[in-house]
Amino acid sequence: MRCSVESLPLLQGVIDCIDVGALVLDANHCIVLWNRWMSQHTGVLSAETLERNFFDLFPEQRDKRLDTAIRQALNNNMPALLSQTLNRWPLPLYSSKSAAEKGERMQQQITVSPLNIANNERYCLLQVTDVSAAVQRESLLREQAMALRSQTLLDDLTGVANRRHFDMAIDRETRRARRMGTSLSLMMLDIDFFKAYNDHYGHQQGDACLEAVASALSTMQQRPADLFARYGGEEFAVILPDTPGDAAVMMANAMCRKVRDLRIPHQAARADERIITISIGVASTDSGHAGEVYDLINAADRALYQAKACGRNRVESL
Ligand code: GH3
Ligand code: MG
Ligand code: MG
Repeated sequence: MRCSVESLPLLQGVIDCIDVGALVLDANHCIVLWNRWMSQHTGVLSAETLERNFFDLFPEQRDKRLDTAIRQALNNNMPALLSQTLNRWPLPLYSSKSAAEKGERMQQQITVSPLNIANNERYCLLQVTDVSAAVQRESLLREQAMALRSQTLLDDLTGVANRRHFDMAIDRETRRARRMGTSLSLMMLDIDFFKAYNDHYGHQQGDACLEAVASALSTMQQRPADLFARYGGEEFAVILPDTPGDAAVMMANAMCRKVRDLRIPHQAARADERIITISIGVASTDSGHAGEVYDLINAADRALYQAKACGRNRVESL
């Protein structure tokens, strides 16, 4: 762009009008240009800045990334972008008066560009953008995505992990057990005579029973990597990483007891005690011998079938 002397006021008008902060430093870090945006957002007028050293005005910037970027631009002709992620609010800039009163700095993105004017005089241009709104939008979107993600991993009725979550977790834990050489146990559990319960008490009470059983059992797992999930219908599954078979069987027996202790009446049960009970099948892989996911699920399923065949309300393991 070519400028005539007459166009200088026009240029000044443009610089004052743009919606970014613009300031120019000379080779000695003295401020030679300071636009209206900078005045509005710092409260420091242009006249107060002229010929002032940038680092006298912003002493906290000495030896920081912005200092390095300015030196690189002036000495090595290198541009730089200081994104908001690494340098959230380097300069004392405020989006509004109320933000300034509360001391809430605006989130900034700063670009530093070398300017080579005639006579080899070195300058650098700093452009400051207010990215507060964009950052806020981004964090809102991230929160929404997290909420959506957790919704898609939870069972609607019981609030415990759903089948999708189980599938992801068992796959991950089998691979981890193989890689780390650790043991892994899996329980498949099923409510006894649940069809009869539904027929006798109605589907809604059946739902309430499922919720009660899930809520009682889902708090029994101790470690963060343990997972209690609804596998489907009135079947649940428990993944216990780094847990050998005997420990898993102990926990399974405690879970059977816990459900019995709920003493949920079940008049239609074909058993001595007319209460809700569960059967559990346990399968485990020894340390370092985790096979395929399919094999482990299959083994737990077969153990569950055995528990049903042996009279229900019990634990069987393979
Ligand atoms: P067993 O002791 O051999 O496990 O017999 P069962 O009657 O429990 O087994 P079956 O698989 O024949 O019946 C399961 C029943 O669970 C059938 C179905 O109506 C009921 N069921 C599955 N999902 C739900 C649900 O979300 N809500 C309700 N209320 N019932 C469900
Ligand atoms: Mg079933
Ligand atoms: Mg059942």
